[in-house]
Amino acid sequence: MEGMQMIGIIGGGESGVGAALLAKQTGHEVFLSDAGKLTAGRKEELEKYEIPFEEGGHTFERLKIADLIVKSPGVPDSDPLIADLLDAGREVISEIEFAYRHQHGKILAITGSNGKTTTTHLAYHMLNHAGFDVAEVGNVGKSFARQLFEQRHDWYVIEVSSFQLDGIRFFKPDIAVLLNITPDHLDRYGGDFERYAESKFRIFRNLGAGDWLIFNAMDPGISSRIRLDQIHARLLPMGHAHLDGRRRVRLTENRDLSVADARLIGRHNQVNLLAAALAAKEAGASYAQIRESLATFQNDPHRLEVVGEWNGVLFINDSKATNVDAVYYALEA
Ligand code: ADP
Repeated sequence: MEGMQMIGIIGGGESGVGAALLAKQTGHEVFLSDAGKLTAGRKEELEKYEIPFEEGGHTFERLKIADLIVKSPGVPDSDPLIADLLDAGREVISEIEFAYRHQHGKILAITGSNGKTTTTHLAYHMLNHAGFDVAEVGNVGKSFARQLFEQRHDWYVIEVSSFQLDGIRFFKPDIAVLLNITPDHLDRYGGDFERYAESKFRIFRNLGAGDWLIFNAMDPGISSRIRLDQIHARLLPMGHAHLDGRRRVRLTENRDLSVADARLIGRHNQVNLLAAALAAKEAGASYAQIRESLATFQNDPHRLEVVGEWNGVLFINDSKATNVDAVYYALEA
């Protein structure tokens, strides 16, 4: 992006503040606006870097003079403020789009209705173990923009939500992963499953002939909608031939991985492991490095986490299963 611009930022959470810090660092003028309250820590950060902000409401006059608006994923497009800014001719983008325009690294982006965090952690762990200079960003914790502000890397593994994808324009991963599409967050898409699916499909809309799309061809939400002839990337469909029984995934004829080696259980984690391994392989990690890395993999808590055994009953914490499909797969596992 050339020259100084005035960047208006809507929302003062992790992605909004991350975008503000990156905008300031890259020489832009910034104004951040949040309808609610900012945490004390985030306010301190903005003050430290002399970034003006408001909370408890939006001043349209101050936002409408911005050259570019970065919208937090929590703010729906239907928000009247966004509609007014669009009417005023402002470009409105998401935080990952903004961050994307300020970096030159390689990107492995992961989306889907379920399994994003687990797959992101797996892929990051594999690349890190293989000696890549890599960071893990997005919904998993640190925003992409904040990571760029703090430290640049060769590779970024990004967990991408459909809300972030709604606000992309040029964002183009080198490797994109689409895990599954099942009803989730439909409140934000007017109850329309097709619109939600379209959002997820945006992950591959900018891919070129040199990029990879890894997608779950066994998922009816994907296979019934995807138009392969309209995708320019190299395709890596995940299919039944990749799944060997319930515990192993097969990368190629004689190269397989055990889900149990990563202390994961369930068929859904076979898909997550397969997706991460295929992505790590295309990024340049060797099969040996990928296989070795599993021994030291540690998933986040609350995802089919074994809590203990009592009176012969095994207790498992899966409080991260926040939609019907996640619960279905958890029970199946
Ligand atoms: P996300 O980041 O997309 O919410 P997580 O990796 O945090 O996904 O997993 C959340 C829950 O979703 C898990 O505890 C599990 O019950 C379920 N889940 C994980 N992976 C899959 C998958 N590939 N397909 C269906 N359900 C899954």
